[in-house]
Amino acid sequence: MEPAHAVTSNGNGSYDCDIISWFDSVSENAAIVQRETLGRILELNYGVEYLKKWFGDVKIQEMDACALESLYTSLVPLASHADLEPFIQRIADGDTDPILTQQPITTLSLSSGTTEGRPKFVPFTRHSSQTTLQIFRLAAAYRSRVYPIRDGGRILEFIYSSKQFKTKGGLTAGTATTHYYASEEFKIKQEKTKSFTCSPQEVISSGDYKQSTYCHLLLGLFFSDQVEFITSTFAYSIIQAFASFEEHWKEICNDIREATLCSRITLPRIRKAVLDIISSKPSLASQIEAICEDLQASDWYSLIPRLWPNVKYVYSIMTGSMQPYLKKLRHYAGSLPLVSADYGSTESWIGLNLDPSLPPEDVTFTVMPTFSYFEFIPLYRQKQDLTSGTVDFIEDEPVPLSQVKVGQEYEIVLTTFTGLYRYRLGDVVEVAGFYKGAPKLNFICRRKLILTVNIDKNTEKDLQLVVERGSQLLSKFGAELIDFTSHADLMHQPGHYIIYWEIKGEVEERVLGECCREMDASFVDHGYVVSRRTNSIGPLELCIVERGTFKKILDYFIGNGAALSQFKTPRCTSDQMLLRILNVCSIKRYRSTAYN
Ligand code: AMP
Repeated sequence: MEPAHAVTSNGNGSYDCDIISWFDSVSENAAIVQRETLGRILELNYGVEYLKKWFGDVKIQEMDACALESLYTSLVPLASHADLEPFIQRIADGDTDPILTQQPITTLSLSSGTTEGRPKFVPFTRHSSQTTLQIFRLAAAYRSRVYPIRDGGRILEFIYSSKQFKTKGGLTAGTATTHYYASEEFKIKQEKTKSFTCSPQEVISSGDYKQSTYCHLLLGLFFSDQVEFITSTFAYSIIQAFASFEEHWKEICNDIREATLCSRITLPRIRKAVLDIISSKPSLASQIEAICEDLQASDWYSLIPRLWPNVKYVYSIMTGSMQPYLKKLRHYAGSLPLVSADYGSTESWIGLNLDPSLPPEDVTFTVMPTFSYFEFIPLYRQKQDLTSGTVDFIEDEPVPLSQVKVGQEYEIVLTTFTGLYRYRLGDVVEVAGFYKGAPKLNFICRRKLILTVNIDKNTEKDLQLVVERGSQLLSKFGAELIDFTSHADLMHQPGHYIIYWEIKGEVEERVLGECCREMDASFVDHGYVVSRRTNSIGPLELCIVERGTFKKILDYFIGNGAALSQFKTPRCTSDQMLLRILNVCSIKRYRSTAYN
């Protein structure tokens, strides 16, 4: 079930056609391919402890694919990460029995943890890197149909490895992106897509994101005329890189002029690797300086095409929790297209953006039927039921990929080659349509409720919409929302929501008070509206934090082992340390007058 080209490709043109026609055929037969995928996963892992627990001694080898699918879903229960954690922990501690997979697991990935509050271990195998390579090559083939790039060109990639470490049992652990950047597949991807990253491995894996960012920018500019596109895993990293460029461009120009590295780059490995690449380019440095003087006057509008004249597009995950950064990204990108990247998780890749020309707001992800076995739990929103406490959706029985319905929302369930069986991913998606036999998904949000005081139920998406409404007023007054998060304060009676904003620009008190009121009035969840009317939830509080607060939050996460490549600002927090940072940095507080 691998693309035929894997061994024989003679040039990108025919290779692109090969991989696209392979994808067409697996999507055409998605239902069959899914059953085959499940069959392969179960065959490879037949007899492992976890499956034996549910299957007993049933001989699955003799079953046909349809019967196996229904037996599997009737015997093996849905599981959360917490259910699998004891098994994964034994593996981490060095138990080499076939617990989840027949092939020994030697590497564990750490999911970013910024969505769930705490990092989780997930098994990582060669299959994980291979599927990453496959989806990247497929995505590159689709992109090149719309935005062709020059063979042998460069990519300015804001990518970062976190530190790898050993578990008690001696397994290598780190983020999935860290394992991928260190893998053979990362090198193969560059050769096969004929595009090469500007930075050497030492910069990607320095372990100090500030030094890496500086060097990514320096090398990106050193090779500026060769750069064909700019990318990162999540859009946040591009925003943070250019925010840092606004601060350090003079030093970068100086280093390009002199072929030196400023004193903020202290790590010997990274210094040597970068100094080995660069040479003195005084005229390029003067040219960049002149452009930057100019850009400063227009608040860095169109920075990307001005500094990288051959860039064709900006490519990154821009959906879900990255959507709030789109405005800033558009500001930096000027008229360049923004191409929204694919949908995946540490646990498995899920779907591919087949239409790179679509604006990020309209992007859908076509499920990759060979990567994992997917099930979908239908979710129905509770409109009027105010008695159900923290239950967010009503669930129906999970259905296979071939039975999903357009317009319906689902939670994704994964069975992976890495030993996760009927694992609830916790993401909510909506089926937008089909590409041949494969569903196209809209990413909606993480399932977990983030804001709830009593009968109210608000997800990350609900908060995002409310913040978008509230911050529209800011733009009218020439200010800009840099980042935000929230907290449900239950310590004080009645409980209430606190939304923290970091903003750029001066805004009158009156306007901020109005933003606060607007947000409070914009939560449409029935439980919230009723509770606000009866004052069983108090008025929403808007806290303005000083500039640089969200950078401190990033540093706090990085200090705890998160990787910038997978960082997502938590949109709601109860983490005491984070709340302390937010509260110490609060400079103004407003209480909503809505519902008075
Ligand atoms: P991680 O914890 O780093 O494995 O992050 C995986 C999570 O990031 C997924 O479960 C999604 O919630 C989110 N995510 C990944 N790709 C996308 C995407 N293209 N659009 C929206 N959210 C995404």
